[in-house]
Amino acid sequence: MGRTRNDHAAAAAAARALPGKWTFAGNFPSSLTAKSVARNISSGRLPNYPAYQPAGAWEAYAAPAGDQESVWVRYIGHGEPVAPLPDRMTVRVADRGDGTRGYVGLEVVTVTIAATCAECGGPRGWDTVRPNWTCEDGAWYGVDTWTNGCGHVDMFAAVLREARLRPLPVAPPSRPVEVIG
Ligand SMILES: [Zn+2]
Repeated sequence: MGRTRNDHAAAAAAARALPGKWTFAGNFPSSLTAKSVARNISSGRLPNYPAYQPAGAWEAYAAPAGDQESVWVRYIGHGEPVAPLPDRMTVRVADRGDGTRGYVGLEVVTVTIAATCAECGGPRGWDTVRPNWTCEDGAWYGVDTWTNGCGHVDMFAAVLREARLRPLPVAPPSRPVEVIG
């Protein structure tokens, strides 16, 4: 690996090499710190983050990643349009119960979850959601499936748990960047 934690020069170089693609930039024990770092990177105004210059060429957001908060950045100074990152996504998942009451069959539940991976904070595959069919006791049920760019797989049981326990973001993680002048 050779990349130390929160090596912003390396993160910025990696993001620059893949314009428009969200790139991991660091983990922080404090959510407040991570959010402030993300704001500062997006604004491009502070000298604390010289790797993310010029101002207006970067977007950043902070999201929970396990018991930490991660910051993700993307380079948007290449002049191509980029899709805004939604803060949440609504999907249909299969609920097979929590196992405490034995076999309960399958129920399709529609849940709204954060558009970022619960494990690493990277963007979930919100733009890859596609209908899928799952069979249970000879009956077919329509659910959704998606692929996360980070490689973490969202199992339905974990998604249901997350929908119950993990608060949704209060504001979009990605804000539009105003180009002045
Ligand atoms: Zn992930």
